[in-house]
Amino acid sequence: MIARPNARDAETPQPEAWHTLPRAEAERILLTGPEGLQEDEAERRIAFYGPNRLAPPKRRGPLLRLLMQFHNVLLYVMIAAAVITAFLGHWVDTGVLLAAVVVNAIIGFIQEGKAEAALDAIRAMLSPHATVIRGGLRREIDAAALVPGDLVLLSSGDRVPADLRLAAVKDLRVDEAALTGESVPAEKNADTVAHDAPLGDRCGMAYSGTLVVYGQARGFVVATGAATELGKISGMLAGIRSVATPLLRQVDRFGRLLALAILAFSAATFAVGTLWRGHAPAEMFMMVVALAASAIPEGLPAIMTVTLALGVQRMARRSAIIRRLPAVEALGSVTVICSDKTGTLTRNEMTVQRVVCGGHVFDVGGVGYAPVGDFSVDDHIVDTDRYPAFELAIRAGVLCNDARLREDEGLWSVEGDPTEGALLVMGAKAGFTQHAGEAAWPRLDSIPFESEHRFMATWHRDADGESWIFVKGAPERVFEMCDAQLDHDGEHPLDVDYWRRMATDTAAQGLRLLALACRRSAPAGDRLGFADVETGYVLLALVGIIDPPREEAIEAVGECHHAGIRVKMITGDHAETARAIGAQLAIGIGKPAVTGAEIALMDDAALRRVAMEVDVFARASPEHKLRLVQALQDDGQVVAMTGDGVNDAPALKRADVGVAMGMKGTEAAKEAADMVLADDNFATIAAAVREGRAVYDNLKKFVLFMLPTNGGEALVVIAAILFELALPLTPAQVLWINMVTSSTLGLALAFEPAERDIMHRRPRPPGEALLSGFFVWRVLMVSVLMMTGALGLFLWELDKGVGIETARTMAVNAVVVAEMFYLVNSRSILAPVANREGLTGNRYVLVAIAACIPLQIAFTHTAPMQAVFGSTDLTALEWAKVVGAGLLVFCGAELEKFIIRRTRLATRLGLRQPPAY
Ligand code: ATP
Repeated sequence: MIARPNARDAETPQPEAWHTLPRAEAERILLTGPEGLQEDEAERRIAFYGPNRLAPPKRRGPLLRLLMQFHNVLLYVMIAAAVITAFLGHWVDTGVLLAAVVVNAIIGFIQEGKAEAALDAIRAMLSPHATVIRGGLRREIDAAALVPGDLVLLSSGDRVPADLRLAAVKDLRVDEAALTGESVPAEKNADTVAHDAPLGDRCGMAYSGTLVVYGQARGFVVATGAATELGKISGMLAGIRSVATPLLRQVDRFGRLLALAILAFSAATFAVGTLWRGHAPAEMFMMVVALAASAIPEGLPAIMTVTLALGVQRMARRSAIIRRLPAVEALGSVTVICSDKTGTLTRNEMTVQRVVCGGHVFDVGGVGYAPVGDFSVDDHIVDTDRYPAFELAIRAGVLCNDARLREDEGLWSVEGDPTEGALLVMGAKAGFTQHAGEAAWPRLDSIPFESEHRFMATWHRDADGESWIFVKGAPERVFEMCDAQLDHDGEHPLDVDYWRRMATDTAAQGLRLLALACRRSAPAGDRLGFADVETGYVLLALVGIIDPPREEAIEAVGECHHAGIRVKMITGDHAETARAIGAQLAIGIGKPAVTGAEIALMDDAALRRVAMEVDVFARASPEHKLRLVQALQDDGQVVAMTGDGVNDAPALKRADVGVAMGMKGTEAAKEAADMVLADDNFATIAAAVREGRAVYDNLKKFVLFMLPTNGGEALVVIAAILFELALPLTPAQVLWINMVTSSTLGLALAFEPAERDIMHRRPRPPGEALLSGFFVWRVLMVSVLMMTGALGLFLWELDKGVGIETARTMAVNAVVVAEMFYLVNSRSILAPVANREGLTGNRYVLVAIAACIPLQIAFTHTAPMQAVFGSTDLTALEWAKVVGAGLLVFCGAELEKFIIRRTRLATRLGLRQPPAY
């Protein structure tokens, strides 16, 4: 095909006219056909049209983002104070205040940038895919690579990736609410409509951004990117939603309240200091400004966001892509994980192992998708030619099939549904290839497989022109359609008891079941409809397919059990298969499996009882999933639920953490989910729970670090004012401490790895308040320890007769060193840190401390700093005393942890719960 984008320009009808053109005409204009575009042609077109992407919504520019950092109560106070000090002629104070303002704003700017970058990277991972036919071959490509002329395949659950002129349609229904606001899905066909038909009536078109809720279709891309109808009316569809999570909001509110309280308190201190203690108002003013600046935890919300964003990034590295940030918190308190079986707990590498057909049980040799393996009956290798019923069953399995078997440099793979792939491999082992089969018996129509009806049917014409309908599906469904069975000596009435026995027997071995049947007649109409697959079928075979559990899923289920999380398997598969596979995974051992049909008979109260008791739910459909989530939630559980189909969306939305499959999941499921598993693997959910718990832990650690460090500094000054002591810190020095330590040291805790026993704790109660009684105690205790160290040292030195400058320099250094030590304490809330792992396990902590040391040395020993801050040189002994004050805090905090651990107070305070199992 020749690239003629320019000629196309001349020929392209007005974009709105595509719906008026018959398919053939559209194909002619787009220079495409039933084979789609050739790869090289698509490449040429993408160079011309650009990627199929909408421009991202406009972001605030860096300058505006920097300026926005000044929009903060604390900085207002500091700027006002700087203006006042300038009026008073206190130039040094003005300079320090302004420097503190700028440093705070820059740190906020950098933190925000980091959080944004982390989330951006994740947005990019969620880019949608499209199935196209290029050069006659079906392939999955990034939706951004679509070009006009591409032939796109749609099936239920897909988001339409570009504007399409539909060429072939099978029961297609599309939810166009995104575009037209119409909530009832629109029925589609390949017809043309009048030029002035409104968007919602253009049945021959599928528009970018709308959602396929049912059926299948193929269509040619007529517009991409900004040229699509969606591109014309709006920006991007929802990506990651707002950054605020319940916890962040809680902290934000707390931070604001605290700031107000501190401002009020500072005003009171000002009044006490000037009126009662007789300090000069100008001096007191500076002091309370410095005090407020050091006590207000201005970095709190920013660092919390960074901690969350880093957690999200760590999860993404482990293939768990978070779509909504609150899910990170919810993950940490999940008590039940409901998981699909196929592909999530199992490998989804299917191999037919057993075929019951014509009164025989055939064992099929070989593993994986390589079509190498023998057929045997009672351990004797047999030739399939001798079994006509088996031959027909193999034909049915290969023809009633949408998958493709491929070989690439000796490696065999399946494109499409692995269950169907297994049938193709079996066919190839018997020497029956799909290509030859389809050429001899062309397909005239089909009913695709959907989880709801659990079967697939195809209509073919054989070499003699006779019609055949093949069905394959869940045995119970197929048995219902059959009244006869094909044995090797011909047709006989169906012995349904025999088949049910064989089905239970095969399923009990953990094999997935499919039944194959056929009917030698044409459909009633000219299309294959549901009425044609009700009765009159001849049962050909029962196929048992092995799909072994994933090794890592077995481990992950064990880990979840240790972490006090129940794992439930909710599958569309047969009850016995589900139970057998469940047992291999340690899910529901020794308990019965409940089927979807049984769930349907239960009222909500009964279901609530069963939902907690039973761990394996079989033959369950999406509506059962939804009821199960509700039942579990009514029981007080925090539920993570997996799903992949379009109908799973309500259950995913309802669950506390909806988890969609990244590989086999539909776009609809992904959009409804809070988290997408890039590898469809159960182990990834367990890893995400672990990270979720770690993030929450780190948030707590950060609060436990930040509040006492601010509090300690404030206490030093307040105590001095109240007890009429010489001020141990000057206002400029307080601001210096704030500048050096606040928001910088604590950030290191965002990088804290998960503690070793994190998956041995019980799930955190949902809605647990961050600031528990224990937190208040820890904050007070450490604040007092810090004050004792710094103020004690200051008074002791003064008492010994050293100059006030030296005593103050020592007090400043004592506060900063105490914060450095306490940062190490804060690496764990209860576990000891006076060991190798505790001291060196987080290199960011070491880097943060190492960065503060030269600043303090400069503060103490360089002339310009001494001039600004009134500091002086310290001797080695004085430095040793400073470090001693820091050690006091370190040892005090470790001792408190030790006592809590020893006295089992931890359990009573709800800080640690006994292991679940
Ligand atoms: P899970 O919900 O754990 O992913 P599942 O994949 O087994 O389980 P479904 O895909 O709904 O659930 O399949 C349900 C049943 O439908 C299967 O047990 C099988 O008998 C039948 N089935 C599955 N795939 C096909 C198919 N492509 N064609 C016909 N029947 C199928």
